Amino acid sequence: MTRVFNFSAGPAVLPEPVLRQAAAEMLDWQGSGMSVMEMSHRGKEFVDIHARAEADLRELMAIPKNYKVLFLQGGASAQFAVVPMNLLRGKDRADYVNTGQWSKKAITDAKKYCKVNVAASSEGDNFTRAPKQSEWKLDPDAAYVHVTTNETIGGVEFHWVPDTGEVPLVADMSSHILSRPMDVSKYGLIYAGAQKNIGPAGLTIVIVRDDLLGQALPVTPTVFDYKVQAENDSMSNTPATYGIYMAGLVFQWLKKQGGLAKMEQVNRSKAALLYDYLDQTEFYHSPVAKDDRSLMNVPFTLRSADLDKAFLQTTEAAGLTQLKGHRSVGGMRASIYNAMPVEGVQALVECLKEFERKHG
Ligand SMILES: *Cc1c(COP(=O)(O)O)cnc(C)c1O
Repeated sequence: MTRVFNFSAGPAVLPEPVLRQAAAEMLDWQGSGMSVMEMSHRGKEFVDIHARAEADLRELMAIPKNYKVLFLQGGASAQFAVVPMNLLRGKDRADYVNTGQWSKKAITDAKKYCKVNVAASSEGDNFTRAPKQSEWKLDPDAAYVHVTTNETIGGVEFHWVPDTGEVPLVADMSSHILSRPMDVSKYGLIYAGAQKNIGPAGLTIVIVRDDLLGQALPVTPTVFDYKVQAENDSMSNTPATYGIYMAGLVFQWLKKQGGLAKMEQVNRSKAALLYDYLDQTEFYHSPVAKDDRSLMNVPFTLRSADLDKAFLQTTEAAGLTQLKGHRSVGGMRASIYNAMPVEGVQALVECLKEFERKHG
């Protein structure tokens, strides 16, 4: 068996010990005689798996008691509509910060439910930076302020928490949740699709302050009414049981690594390895403003796009896969989530050096 270093933006690399444990438990989960996939979501075994996953996530992120944790489906993309459906609370408008492809999509869907004020945008700079708070023009009557705290495609991350006063802050954290400690109490709602930094695709995590629940628009599907899901332990319908189990194994793995403060140290040193190399050569280029660079998604270009194909062949041959950048940005993108070992980043940097020696 050969495992590659997988730099995919998502679905993405998972911790090898998690995959091994899932494999070992595949046919018979802890003496139950069944796979987790075969269990009733209301049976004791699965109810325990679900409760442990939630408890571990609460511990890892230090989620305050007045926040609900929901395990939903539909991906982060469903939340683009589900957030306004639930959080308008009698208001007719919301603020959005436009920092890239994912915030744009969130804005497009929100417009179906309310007026959208684009409070700040980095589109004029080709989405290569996070707009400073001083540029934001917030509407005091907004129901909430939405921000994509890590733009997976552009590689732009907010390394600070925006201040929105009394207006709830809503964050799409899909691609950097669990990469470092976040102060949950600063947010009204956090959502994330699982397939970047949590587990397999099919599970979406929503963390929401409980005073924001209970005023969903009448058109809201029952399975997307946060209050209904909160009252039913996310089991208003059958949840993504296997995804919750896998996420739970990842949470246990993160606790074993030393928690999110430790993950931040590791992630910072991994990212520094790569950015430092990109910055000290003319051959490669990172387009993102230094203060706003993502620790998780690192886009970069080669001196000439004519070299892209040869570069991808070279990295592929070295066992480094899925480095092709998003079609909207071009070049390369290395996603270096929690589960990417430092050895993978070291191997990538070696490959960058070697390729530059040959083609520079
Ligand atoms: C991947 C991603 C999404 C979309 O997730 P889906 O699960 O495909 O709906 C939304 N926002 C961000 C920031 C992402 O990285």
